[in-house]
Amino acid sequence: MSTHPAHPFDYAALDAYLNGDLPFLKRLACARHLKRCPRCRAVLERVKSDNQLWADISAAETTPPDANPTNHEC
Ligand SMILES: [Zn+2]
Repeated sequence: MSTHPAHPFDYAALDAYLNGDLPFLKRLACARHLKRCPRCRAVLERVKSDNQLWADISAAETTPPDANPTNHEC
């Protein structure tokens, strides 16, 4: 049995792949690897959901706080 080749694309590389930050040739290689590697596809899914999570968090952080209750009625 031949050993499975190392997975050349780790979490950070897959993150770059998703964001379009990989050079063309690397993207090609990455897409090819993902096609035949369910393990790396699983990592890609995790990158996706993490990105979604970060988007949710930063959206929550940039939401302006409620307007100050300025009308004091004593
Ligand atoms: Zn792989």
